[in-house]
Amino acid sequence: MDCKACGGKGILATTYQYGERATILHLIPASPFTETNYVKCGNCGELFVSRLSVFELAKTSAELDSLLGWRVPLISLTLTIGGLILCPVPGIGLVVNVLALLLSSSRPKHWTCTASTIGAVVAVVLTGLYIISFILWYMLNS
Ligand SMILES: [Zn+2]
Repeated sequence: MDCKACGGKGILATTYQYGERATILHLIPASPFTETNYVKCGNCGELFVSRLSVFELAKTSAELDSLLGWRVPLISLTLTIGGLILCPVPGIGLVVNVLALLLSSSRPKHWTCTASTIGAVVAVVLTGLYIISFILWYMLNS
């Protein structure tokens, strides 16, 4: 497989299948039993969700890219989106964006990495401007 996360080409990937059923309080089934097929990159360990079963995947030589979906941790998505919203806030925006950037740094080709890089740059510039204007304000008032 060609890995979208680390950019590796022709990497040996492991595939496995999970039976999953979403339950409320682990007692009441909330969804029908579903089987999820995972493909794990042998290089970086990134997990992808496959729309085809592992058996179908083994037979197909089609573009895996179109069949594999990202499995990005929710915390990474939350911090990326939160970082973009908070980037104009001096200090806080910077912290959130740097955290998002650290979390997404293992996925350099994913949009969360691009988004948090932009957010971090904007936050750095705005925090810098804020500090400069604070110093100017302090100098003018003293
Ligand atoms: Zn990889």
